[in-house]
Amino acid sequence: MPETAEVVVIGAGVVGSSVAYYLAREGINVTLLERESIGSGASAHATGSLSLLGAEFTAGPSFQLARASYAEFPDLVPELESLTGMNLLYQRRPSLRLALDDEEVDLINSLMEWQQPHVKMRWIDAREVRSIEPRLSQSIIGAMYEDESAQLDSYRFNLGLAGGAERRGAQILYREVTGLVASGSTVTGVATSSGDIHCDAVVVAAGTWSRAFTPWLGFPVPVRPMKGERLLLNYPGEPLPVLISSPKRGHMISRLDGLTSVGSTGGRDYDQRELFAGEEFDRQPTEPARLELLQRAIDVFPDLERAELVQQLAGSRPLSPDSKPIIGPVPGWNGVLLATGHTTKGIHLGPITGRIVADYICRGGTHVVSDMAEFLPDRFADFADADYLAAAKTVDE
Ligand SMILES: Cc1cc2nc3c(=O)[nH]c(=O)nc-3n(C[C@H](O)[C@H](O)[C@H](O)COP(=O)(O)OP(=O)(O)OC[C@H]3O[C@@H](n4cnc5c(N)ncnc54)[C@H](O)[C@@H]3O)c2cc1C
Repeated sequence: MPETAEVVVIGAGVVGSSVAYYLAREGINVTLLERESIGSGASAHATGSLSLLGAEFTAGPSFQLARASYAEFPDLVPELESLTGMNLLYQRRPSLRLALDDEEVDLINSLMEWQQPHVKMRWIDAREVRSIEPRLSQSIIGAMYEDESAQLDSYRFNLGLAGGAERRGAQILYREVTGLVASGSTVTGVATSSGDIHCDAVVVAAGTWSRAFTPWLGFPVPVRPMKGERLLLNYPGEPLPVLISSPKRGHMISRLDGLTSVGSTGGRDYDQRELFAGEEFDRQPTEPARLELLQRAIDVFPDLERAELVQQLAGSRPLSPDSKPIIGPVPGWNGVLLATGHTTKGIHLGPITGRIVADYICRGGTHVVSDMAEFLPDRFADFADADYLAAAKTVDE
């Protein structure tokens, strides 16, 4: 008997698991295929920061997408926790985006200009920053204070989405997809390491590996791995009362499990040759990154000199040529959708990606943002490899 599903989702990272979850919630018969293990890609390496601030989101549909996804978490997290019994270590707290030099002041101000009407935020001076957290560096010039941002454990979130999808009727199979099965331009299934699975629609959510689908689709799926490293520290002092980040020095977050996360390395930390040295997902922690990240963290919070290193994580983000996600139907095909290329925001944007893909499959389109054009796959019918470099430079977290 051939195996069948209405929809096959390829890749059980946060994005694919979220797509499977939202489809299962609609009552769709969905099979999620994973070649290794849940969270074996980028999703287990992420900080889990859910923040609207930063250079990753631009004015217009990109920011609408970010806000819409942020708004999913307050209901989604308890829903997943109750379905699975897991604690996703989700916290919502005020945040500070710190400026330690004039360049950071300018970077923050340029974002505040267009973000302020949409998000509750205000500039505070160094005195007010230290009244919130007196242990921060004397070099701080000021900060943008945001009433609320959030963070969770990205690996637990990934497991929670996949487990939640299963509880709602999805099937998870541990198999590698090795090709598509089609009748003309209509997809009829996927080929896997142990036989074909017939289906009406396929969602490619294979993170940095999505590029392998280019020859099978005859259509570009432009995603490249872009490395990032971060550290988990054991700090003996009181936890930070706010979530902290700075444009050039990354994040500093007291997690709900008691560890302090600092990092990450981003586009500014690599030259062009290093950045695209390999086509493979890079899990290798490096000494230069460890030393650099520790120094940056101590510059912001000198008492971290007392902290011990618990874990150094390294992984690769699925970078798209404009650093925006690639979501929606593949031109020229019936029944193939992409949900990939989320670059440095795949945890934050996972839920809304799931909702949008479910909208396309169940209702033929979506109204989540005013215009989907900047996320649709057809924007890359023509792109140059050089575009990746420009996109990588915008990744500061
Ligand atoms: C250091 C670092 C910090 C980050 N911090 C944040 C953050 O704070 N906030 C945020 O929003 N994002 C952050 N990110 C980015 C985030 O991790 C990614 O955008 C996100 O995890 C991408 O999810 P994904 O599901 O697309 O890919 P992945 O998690 O990589 O999942 C893809 C899955 O597909 C599977 N697969 C591949 N090919 C096949 C196949 N042929 N058949 C079956 N399965 C297949 C893989 O095994 C893998 O499990 C960070 C990333 C890094 C590296």
